[in-house]
Order: sequence, then structure tokens, then C-alpha cells
Amino acid sequence: MSALIDLHCHSTVSDGLLPPQELVAHAASRGVKVLGLTDHDDLGGLAEARLASNDHGIAFINGVEISVTWKRRTLHIVGLKVDAENLALINALAEVRTARDGRAREIASGLEKVGIVDAYEGAKTFSKQSIMTRSHFAQYLVQAGHAKNVKTVFKKYMVKGKPGYVEHQWMDLEQAVTLIKQSGGVAVIAHPGRYDLGFVNMHLLMHEFRSYGGEAIEVVTGSHTPPQYDQFAKIAHRFGLKASQGSDYHGPGLSYMEMGYLPNLPHGCVPVWQDWEEAKLLNA
Ligand code: AMP
Ligand code: MN
Ligand code: MN
Ligand code: MN
Repeated sequence: MSALIDLHCHSTVSDGLLPPQELVAHAASRGVKVLGLTDHDDLGGLAEARLASNDHGIAFINGVEISVTWKRRTLHIVGLKVDAENLALINALAEVRTARDGRAREIASGLEKVGIVDAYEGAKTFSKQSIMTRSHFAQYLVQAGHAKNVKTVFKKYMVKGKPGYVEHQWMDLEQAVTLIKQSGGVAVIAHPGRYDLGFVNMHLLMHEFRSYGGEAIEVVTGSHTPPQYDQFAKIAHRFGLKASQGSDYHGPGLSYMEMGYLPNLPHGCVPVWQDWEEAKLLNA
């Protein structure tokens, strides 16, 4: 049942490989019935994806994945059911995207120091009109022969301490949660198992997130291992948070998980979609 709902994925509007319409067609072909598109820091794909979803009989959920800095770490906060016309959200995300461009130039100059020239232009051939992400740099570096695949290129060049990594100040947690809530959405901590927080900081994060009005965490995601499904189901329960799930699909060859294979949420989780009209068929 649970594989029918996927609340986290990316299109070419951010660092996915499929345009919104094709992404929706792909989801439909994998049997997904309720789909949330959550591009990084951008709402630009939602209208197209919603139209395509109508054609495929998919219930569509507006989404976004906002980059946040918390205690000098980067976290991702997913907003589900946000209003794509909300001006405060639109403007704040536009600022994040402008800052992303400056960051991309800093990434390129870091790479230049180790002899990789033209990385900005190279990454741009992958991102095209969309935001510049580390994924686009990674794809360029693979194409240019600096590593054999995206996974190894991240390790070698794009993570903390490596030449293509720059410290960046993203949105703050309170602002992201507040923007999501004020646009009518539900704030969800994306893939909490990926942040390498110790026990104390993980608990602090959950507490703080809730105090700002955050409502859910991703429990089942392409970025978690099965033991982490149970770990975060317990944390959700302890903090009175609902549970979300999504593949974090980025396209063929660029994903941890294909669409349509998500296992059920662990027993005892309260699904974030519990009261949603769009997910009625799943809750029946
Ligand atoms: P950015 O928001 O520009 O820092 O880019 C982050 C994106 O890079 C993530 O959303 C993933 O799609 C991708 N990414 C991050 N870490 C890795 C990794 N270790 N291997 C492959 N892709 C990654
Ligand atoms: Mn991504
Ligand atoms: Mn993420
Ligand atoms: Mn994602």
C-alpha cells in the first residue's frame, strides 16, 4: 500500500534528470498514486507536474525541499502542500537561488585550485536554466574524466574538506519552517539519518523543529537504511511528529532508490498524509 505514495523527488527544475512532465509519467509507470514533487529551493515545476498528474490519475502534492543551515550544518526541510503562489515563500526561495549562483562560482574557484578549469561552465551545461547544485558539478566532473561516477566524485571533490566544497549560509531553520507553515504547508525534516548528528544534537533538532511548528520527519526514504526506518519511527513517536516517506528519486542512474518500491512505514507511525483528501484511497 505504502509504495503508492511518494512525497520526495526531483525534476530538472533542480537536480533531477527528468522534466516535471516526464517525472510524473515515470511515477505513474511505477504505480505511484499520490506524488509530491520537492525540487530544491524552487517551486517552478509544480504547475507542470500537477497538470501531468491530472492526465495520469495521480493525486499531486505541491512540495519543495529547502536548504537550511543549522549549527553550521546543512539540513533539508521539505514543505508539503505549500501554496505555490505564496509571495513570501516565492521571494525567500528566489534569494536562496541567487546565493546559490555565487556559491557555484566559489565551488568552481575551489576546483580551479586543483587544476580543474571551466567547472562553472561545465556544470552549467548540466543545470541549464535551473539552479546550480553540487550534483551538476559532479556530473560535469564525471564527464570530464575526474572520477568514474557521481558517488566517487562526491567523496573526492564535493564534500566537506574537499576542493569543491564551500561553507554556505542557507536559510535558517525557523525561517524555513515558518515560511512553509505560513504558506499553508506542512514542514518535514528530510532524511534525518543523513546528517550525522549525535544523540544530543538530533534530539535538540527535533525539539527545536517542533517548537517552530514543524510537524513531521521522513522515516522511510531512499537515503535511510532499514534499521534507520525503525530508529526514526521511534524518534517520531517520542517527539510527537508524523512520519513521511519518499524515494528522493533524481532520475535514472542518479538515485538511491527507484520510484514505486517504498516499504510500509513501521508500525505505530502516524502518516503525514493521515488527514489528506488527496490520500483518501490510501487511508481507506
Ligand atoms: P547542493 O544542494 O548543491 O549542496 O547539492 C546537494 C545534492 O547533491 C543533493 O540533493 C543530492 O542530490 C546530491 N548529493 C549530495 N551528496 C551526495 C553523494 N554523496 N552522492 C551523490 N549525490 C549526492
Ligand atoms: Mn538533490
Ligand atoms: Mn535532500
Ligand atoms: Mn531530495
